[in-house]
Formats: sequence, C-alpha cells, structure tokens
Amino acid sequence: MNYFQYRNRALFCEEADVEQIAREAGTPFYLYSHRTLRHHFRVFSAAFAEVPHIVCFSVKACSNTAILRIFAREGGGVDLVSGGELYRALKAGVDPSRMVYSGVGKREDEIDLALRTGILMFNVESFQELETINVRAGKLGVRAGIGLRVNPDVDPETHAHISTGLKGNKFGINVEASLLAYRYAAKLKHVDIKGVSCHIGSQVTKTSPFIDALGRLKDLIRRLREEGIAIHYLDLGGGLGITYDRETPPHPSEYARAIIDASSEMDCTFIFEPGRVIVGNAGILVTRVLYTKENDGKRFVIVDAGMNDLVRPSLYGSFHLIQPVIQREREEITTDVVGPICESGDFLAKGRQMPAVERGELLAVMSAGAYGFSMSSNYNSRPRIPEILVRDDRWYVIRKRENFEDLVRGEEIPDFLNT
Ligand SMILES: *Cc1c(COP(=O)(O)O)cnc(C)c1O
Repeated sequence: MNYFQYRNRALFCEEADVEQIAREAGTPFYLYSHRTLRHHFRVFSAAFAEVPHIVCFSVKACSNTAILRIFAREGGGVDLVSGGELYRALKAGVDPSRMVYSGVGKREDEIDLALRTGILMFNVESFQELETINVRAGKLGVRAGIGLRVNPDVDPETHAHISTGLKGNKFGINVEASLLAYRYAAKLKHVDIKGVSCHIGSQVTKTSPFIDALGRLKDLIRRLREEGIAIHYLDLGGGLGITYDRETPPHPSEYARAIIDASSEMDCTFIFEPGRVIVGNAGILVTRVLYTKENDGKRFVIVDAGMNDLVRPSLYGSFHLIQPVIQREREEITTDVVGPICESGDFLAKGRQMPAVERGELLAVMSAGAYGFSMSSNYNSRPRIPEILVRDDRWYVIRKRENFEDLVRGEEIPDFLNT
C-alpha cells in the first residue's frame, strides 16, 4: 500500500503533482511519500504488537536524516553498519538504547563511538571483533552490550549478492562456533551478553527461511540458557521482500504471525531490522527522457538518471517498473532504458515492454526508495541528485542537489604540481 497514484492520468505523490515538482526542482530526483513511510513503519510494528519488540530500521536502505527522524518519532530504533550511520542516527534523534550495530568490519574508532554513545548492542561477527570490543570497552571504562550474529546456514532463495545467512557467506559465526564464542564472551570483563542475532538476506519473498533461521536461534538460546548464559534479545534481522514486479512476498502481518507462532515461551524481546519493506515502495526516482534512438533495430530511451543514481538494475539485474508521469494513449514498444554513463552496464531497464515515450517526457522509476539514493555515487563526476519528501500537498527538499563545487570538495592539488 503506497500513496503514489494517477489522477486524471497524471502521477501524484499523496496530493502533490509530480510533474509540478519536476518543473520546480529539475530532474532527476528521488521523491518519497511521508504518509507511505509512516504507514509502512506502523504496519510493521503493529504486526508484532502482541510481543515485546523493537523495530530497528536498517539505515543503509535509506539514510537521509529526515527519513530517520520520521521513524525515530514513531519510537523506532536503527540497525547500523558504520560510524557514519551512527552519526546520522544521532543527528536524527534516535534513542541510543534502540541502536544495534552489525557488520563484519567494525573499526576501533567506530567501536569507540558506539561505546561512548551507549548503544543497545553490537551484533558481533567474529572472535577477534569480540576481543576488540572487550578491550575498547575496558579502555573507555564502559560495558559493551553484545549479541553474536549467528550464520544459521539457511537459504533465503534470493539474489546471490544479497543472501547473507548461508554457509560460505562472509557474515556471522556458525552455530557451533558461536557456542564457544558465547562461553568466551561470558568470561570477558567488559562485555554484557544481551542477545542473539541473524540476518539471512534481502528481498526474501517467503516466510519459511525466516522460520528456519528462528528455529536454529531458538535451539542456540536454549543451549545457552542451560549453561547459565542469559539471552534477553532475539534479533531476527531484516530481509522481508516487496513487490517490484510480480513477486508476492508475505504481508508483514503474515510474516509476524508465523514468527510469533513459532516462538512461544521464548521470553525474549524481539528486534527486527527491516529496511526495504519500509522504504522500498515509499520512494520513486523521477527522470526525464533526453533522447530516443534506434540502432540496428534495437531501441533505446536515454534518460537523465544513470547507474550512479540508481545502481540496482546494473548491480543485481533488478526490475523497476518505469511509467510515464503523464499517461496517454500510444503504442507499446520494446526498449532499453539507459542512462548517460559511459558503461554498457548503465541501464535502468533492458528489453522492456513500455509505452513509446518521447523526448522531454518525465518517467517515474517506481519502488526506488530502498538502496536507491543510499547506493548512489558521483561516478562520471555527476552531482548527486536531490531527495524530496512529500507531505500531503507540500514538498520539502531533504537533500539538495549537489553542484560542481561539491564534486571537488576536499580535493587538493599538491604544491609540486603548482610550479
Ligand atoms: C541490509 C541489512 C538489513 C536490512 O535488509 P532489508 O532487506 O533491507 O530489510 C538488516 N540487517 C542487516 C544486518 C543488514 O545488513
């Protein structure tokens, strides 16, 4: 359910006319619906109303501080994967006691920042990281809340690059080794064992992989408790998929039902780290057609957004529905939709059946709210594009368009090149 709809054949975001925004803001830009973001967060959280839980939004899916603020005001926490994300979360006003920190490569300075902030827990991904956190906490005179990120070895049946909970992935510690790691952690002076976590992958469109992972975590928690190691938080990660095309992922309430039913008498507070399911269909990318052309019978629609703005099609072969912002009667064609970047891998769609759009028209690349702007770059020295948030009939620039100055900020020409 989202608030992007056509009214009299013109695309609206809530009560705001997308074409009008484009006229004033220029293209390309990301456009988010405040109502949709809040609705998705509320639906997800409400689905778990009958069990103690914290919804820790996965910052890397969409990192704008204004968007993080929306979730913070709904009582949400965050799942972090870097010091930069922690900085953002603090700026957005997220409560540190609702922050968890995952990632295989946490640096000492990032660990220190998290310790000084007083986050709820680190999801620790190796023995060495565990040792490092203990040492850093000792140095700072604080105690570190930790859980181990367990690799449950379940197949999320998603794209290989976004599957993270399989034997052979770099993430987490396998179940047997994690028992040893917990015993070891229990002896460390500056560490408080708080939870167990896992994150099996992204864009998962079935409940069964989550339930399999939950089963393995439950087993582990039972064994730990038998040894006198108390576990208060069970962090099931994120990963719930959305509909980009014809996928039929479970509704959050279905996902929640299955998890709640499979976890009776666990006596834990649940943590969830949803990213995509909250923001994916709450944002679009608006781009303008620069040119159309035909080469040896193959058609191309060339638009002003490229793989540096939205990399998912190039990186994962992902599908995004592309629609004219203003609809009208016309023939359908089969075409590639490509950007201006000097790479053949720069496309938003390949062999796509879509209306024969013309030069100058606006296109909406749908479902671009997750891993859209947050994965964007300056490749080809293209200024990063603005992020705009709509609330009712008004719109707000929540990140302005970069300019050429921004591109070279921080660069320096050494003296020896000046003479
Ligand atoms: C990326 C990530 C998430 C969010 O995944 P989604 O598929 O966007 O829900 C959650 N937890 C961790 C540890 C992650 O790396």
